[in-house]
Amino acid sequence: MLTAEIIAVGSELLTPFRTDTNSLWLTDKLNTVGVEVRLKTIVGDDDARLEETVRDAVKRSGVVVLTGGLGPTEDDITRKIAARALGRRLLLDEKVLDDIKAKFLRWGRKMPEINARQAMVMEGAEVLPNPNGSAPGMYLEHDGRVVVLLPGPPREMKPMFEGLVLPKLAERSGGVKVVRRVLRVAGLGESAVDERIAPVYTQYKNPQTTILFNSTEIEIHLTAQGKTAAEAELLLDGLAGQIEERLGDAIFAFRGETMEEVVGLRLAVAGFTLATAESCTGGLVAHRLTEVPGSSTYFMEGVVTYSNEAKTRLLGVPAELIERHGAVSAEVAEAMAVGVKQRAETDFGLSVTGIAGPGGGTEEKPVGLVYVALADDAHTEHKRLMLPGDRYLIRTRASQFALDLLRRRLI
Ligand code: ATP
Ligand code: MG
Repeated sequence: MLTAEIIAVGSELLTPFRTDTNSLWLTDKLNTVGVEVRLKTIVGDDDARLEETVRDAVKRSGVVVLTGGLGPTEDDITRKIAARALGRRLLLDEKVLDDIKAKFLRWGRKMPEINARQAMVMEGAEVLPNPNGSAPGMYLEHDGRVVVLLPGPPREMKPMFEGLVLPKLAERSGGVKVVRRVLRVAGLGESAVDERIAPVYTQYKNPQTTILFNSTEIEIHLTAQGKTAAEAELLLDGLAGQIEERLGDAIFAFRGETMEEVVGLRLAVAGFTLATAESCTGGLVAHRLTEVPGSSTYFMEGVVTYSNEAKTRLLGVPAELIERHGAVSAEVAEAMAVGVKQRAETDFGLSVTGIAGPGGGTEEKPVGLVYVALADDAHTEHKRLMLPGDRYLIRTRASQFALDLLRRRLI
């Protein structure tokens, strides 16, 4: 397998103010053509550190991709230092110089003298034109390795890499196709998921399986390689099928869809309508639902009833019910769901009430206690949750459980 490393150049990438996102994007693209990224480095604008890094890189990696530092200023050192590290001269390329001059002319300016540096090309390198900026990139074969220099700004780097570099690397990697799929799971913990599916996925090296946990769900990433995309897809189908056998309905997405997309699709297909009533999530459920384009066909309205008085006035939850059970209770959650469904005249009413903290918890009703409820014409149900985490996580997780309650009803 062809291995790669990425070197992001720029002192600003070592500060808290800028993040190296180029390498993430590049890794994704490299993977699609069967090139595996084994290392990435962020180097400040430091001649010695960069020179060392490039020297090491060409010793160990089949493909070395550098981004950034191709600009015209004194602190843009990549061109000069890469040439030094590889023992190659920098030569003025007249054609590149003319191109840069012409570009400035089109921008209505005369080329500043310092931009002539950008026309210096490493001996033996192919120039990668940059239609979106002034600095051209470079592609070079060096001792059987590939070295690529790309500009730092993502809008310049991406089209250059995708259009001019990726096809070459695809060929070099022997035409291996890599295909990925993301399965998403709700309502099960990370260890529960792993316990059930480890016996299956550990049997395969191809596809490769990675389990990732984020705030509301577990993602199972499957990566398969094949001679063709179809062959790789077939491998994924096989493993995904076996995983589904073990997790069943807990898998809500097979192609990386979000919970709100899945719920929305099911509502749309069935022709059902929905209204929401939220307390501790403050409209998060409605927000997520309406992030999906086309949600107006099934999502009718959402109310945020934060105070007890609002729950009574807007949803018709009896004050006496709140008094007796408290605003965070199964009874009130169900009354909210029924109330919003009746007032909105929808097929479903979905509600959330809980204690997101950090204050407001009691021994009986601690922070993290959340009720979600769902009402349709036939019946009303609720779920009592004890959610771990801070205020942000509790609210996010509560919204996920509410949507999942609806998803399961729609299966
Ligand atoms: P320029 O001609 O614009 O100077 P350059 O190739 O010298 O191009 P840099 O000066 O290193 O590029 O970076 C220009 C801008 O591009 C930076 O301010 C930064 O916002 C963005 N950038 C650079 N490197 C990265 C990276 N690795 N990830 C994301 N953004 C980056
Ligand atoms: Mg620069």
